[in-house]
Amino acid sequence: MKYSLNYVLIMVLMGLPGLSPEAVAMDPHYRMEDFYNVPKVDTHMHLHSTRPDFMQAAVRARFKVLSINVDYADFPPIDDQQRTAEILLGEFPQAFAYAATFSVKGYDQPGWSDAVIARIDAAVKKGAVAVKVWKNVGMELRDRNGAMVMIDDPHFRPIFDYLEKNQIPLLGHQGEPKNCWLPLDKMTVSNDRDYFAAHPQYHMYLHPDMPSYEDQMRARNSMLDQHPKLQFVGLHMASLEWSVDELARFLDRYPNANIDLAARIGQLQYQSNRHYEKVRRFLIKYQDRIMYATDLEQDPDSATGNDYQKLTACDQNPTCKADGEFAKEALQTWLRDWRYFNTTATITVPELARPVKGLALPKSVVDKIYSQNAQRIFPGAWGKSSQ
Ligand SMILES: [Zn+2]
Repeated sequence: MKYSLNYVLIMVLMGLPGLSPEAVAMDPHYRMEDFYNVPKVDTHMHLHSTRPDFMQAAVRARFKVLSINVDYADFPPIDDQQRTAEILLGEFPQAFAYAATFSVKGYDQPGWSDAVIARIDAAVKKGAVAVKVWKNVGMELRDRNGAMVMIDDPHFRPIFDYLEKNQIPLLGHQGEPKNCWLPLDKMTVSNDRDYFAAHPQYHMYLHPDMPSYEDQMRARNSMLDQHPKLQFVGLHMASLEWSVDELARFLDRYPNANIDLAARIGQLQYQSNRHYEKVRRFLIKYQDRIMYATDLEQDPDSATGNDYQKLTACDQNPTCKADGEFAKEALQTWLRDWRYFNTTATITVPELARPVKGLALPKSVVDKIYSQNAQRIFPGAWGKSSQ
């Protein structure tokens, strides 16, 4: 179920009459109506349109965005993603930032890592604030003998050395939620069930010959062990979304690692439905290490006029959402998540059959998770503004 803006406003107005201004000032939690006033960052989106509509809506909601480019065949080619990001950065330097990426094609050829470093360097000069490496490393890329290439493969080492030395954050999506190794009917959240039903090639339960969940985590950790000063962001709760205890151990072991919550808030809610206080304590204890993020993905449009985008132009694609639709979807998601983190309301969420009780985190914790951590971890982003 999704909440309309009207519904939110009515609920907010109903809650107001009993509260004096003093009580509101003393309130340790934000309320729904604070949503539009508190600076926020969504640190994991995929913006593929150069039309300004969505970013204008984000700015109205006081959201800044980190758009992440990915080496993914279902996305526009990397050069197109880079071009779109440069255009959006030019138009919204205070509200838009992006992470560059690189293709793993030819990863075992001589000179490959030098060429990748040169591309990263060029992207950083054009404003990229981080570099993403995707799950195709560990789940798709094979070596000449047919074995899966993992993230700690020596061919990648010069690139991660370079990022470490130059303090460029690496955004890592390695492995998948643990649900990926379970049958569909054993998965804990419906978004995983839907995704793996639609993408059987990534549903590892069906591919027992592929690396295990533990193999993925081990390879990622071994890469981090080799790069103790690397600014690492474990995307999707570092693929440890199923247990805040495991995640706490990871964050303790790697003091330069942070995490985002992208597409895994349902997993947090699954846990808070069972261990409410434990999840709340985790978010408070690790308040400096966690970033709010959604993973919402915008459809490409034909605005940049390149061939790929002409082929997949929104008006020719019946499943494509118009840009206004995307802004509406984002606002609904942002408001639903805001209610979960800031109030004690019981809410319905698309990922779970059971309703979820909000965590009502302290304002200072929300400020960190929703913006201050992102400003610290990506110091060159959003016009270096402090807001
Ligand atoms: Zn993503």
